[in-house]
Amino acid sequence: MNNDQIWQATLGELEINLSRVNFVTWFKDTFLASLENGSAIICVPNAFVKKWLEEKYHKNIVNSLENITKQKLNQIIYKIELRHLPNQAVIGGDKDSQKITYQNEVKILTPNTEIKSVNVNRFGLNPKYVFENFVVGKGNELAHAACRAVVNNLGKAYNPLFIYGGVGLGKTHLLQAIGNEVAKHTDKLLYTTSEKFTNNYIQAVQTGKGKDFKNMYRNVDLLLIDDVQFMGGKDGTQEEFFHTFNELQQSDKQIVMTSDRPPKSIPAIEKRLISRFESGMVADVGKPDIETKIAILEKKSLEKEFPLDKDVLVFIANNVQNNIRELEGALNKVIVIHQLNNSVPTLKSVKAALSDYVSSLQAKSLTPKEIIEAVANFYEISIKDIIGSSRRKELVGPRQVAVYLIREELSTSYPSIGQEMGGRDHTTAMHAYNKISSEIKDGENEKLKQDIESIKQFFNSSQY
Ligand code: ADP
Ligand code: MG
Repeated sequence: MNNDQIWQATLGELEINLSRVNFVTWFKDTFLASLENGSAIICVPNAFVKKWLEEKYHKNIVNSLENITKQKLNQIIYKIELRHLPNQAVIGGDKDSQKITYQNEVKILTPNTEIKSVNVNRFGLNPKYVFENFVVGKGNELAHAACRAVVNNLGKAYNPLFIYGGVGLGKTHLLQAIGNEVAKHTDKLLYTTSEKFTNNYIQAVQTGKGKDFKNMYRNVDLLLIDDVQFMGGKDGTQEEFFHTFNELQQSDKQIVMTSDRPPKSIPAIEKRLISRFESGMVADVGKPDIETKIAILEKKSLEKEFPLDKDVLVFIANNVQNNIRELEGALNKVIVIHQLNNSVPTLKSVKAALSDYVSSLQAKSLTPKEIIEAVANFYEISIKDIIGSSRRKELVGPRQVAVYLIREELSTSYPSIGQEMGGRDHTTAMHAYNKISSEIKDGENEKLKQDIESIKQFFNSSQY
């Protein structure tokens, strides 16, 4: 493996234990510059990231790097350096002149430095993913109950248990909670992902250790397989898994699987596997309702010893829509920012902290009128003109931008936007929205895109 491949693999491992927001925030634009004699140089884009990786993720990085490279590390240097692209023109012929290097700091690992990652235990399970840390609510109560039942009647209640649902909704957490619970009583359990299963299988076949592989997977009381959807299209793996599955099921050994979709919807999967997957219990996890989201935030903020006021929790829960991982990412961001500034979180400071995360205009409960006014101000035209009927080019453009921003930020219906914009038809509003959307997509109209960003920023700054 070259350094890039090593780093990619390391990032892949680190990503598993981080929220997407955190992962992107701290690991974007990092790269492994060298790795020699137990000493690694990791380049980071700025001092802020450097500090953060050193203080917060150092152990995880060491651990993952050691895992991937199978060698011990005694030193990691975090260096601020921007990577120059391979095809970038080299000015003045001196390649190094493009590198921006600031001070370096060396972090030495002394023998007694605790570098074992706390992120996974010997079964590959995250010790934090336990039932006690799982908030039960609408969306996950069925799956949760099924998991509990499985723990209490291993191999007998629902076998297999198949949990499916969208990303970041707690499938892995539940799966590992079963593992962590069962691990209190027995060692005969295996947690794996379908990708790992596939890789192990291929490796076993190549090295003539097919038999060991079979024994390993068939000699357990509990087999947990995460993300089985990735078996789709992998025929050899499916064949092997089919036999493993049958043998376990027939001897009442428990199998639990997760997937991002129900068995029938997994592409390129054998029919006989679908019917096996459906032969026990299929439970879905859905999006949490607002109460569950608030409860999760409250629990996590207490776990992190950073309690937040109810109105702040409600604000985050209301504004982070997609999933629980993102909810956690937003919470982490709030905590990080306030810790760095050494400030006490208020609703206002939290809104500001999450301004690029949640829809900023919505967060401030602006009205369409205020957006129209801001757009008119920005383009230095009057409100009368922007909502008026003149077809002059210098008015039509801003008019469409106003429509776009109202729709984008407030999700206002087209008929209502039409009303706000001087009593226009909803099809006109829709057309305006689509036109602007397509123009700013794919960098087609860079100037327009910047205009829109500036107007959004104006809201951010003018209100705070
Ligand atoms: P999935 O596997 O469905 O993509 P994860 O299990 O990785 O999702 O969950 C993403 C994050 O959200 C994890 O940090 C997990 O602990 C947390 N999480 C999800 N659901 C809950 C819940 N009900 N209570 C507490 N934390 C949750
Ligand atoms: Mg998962």
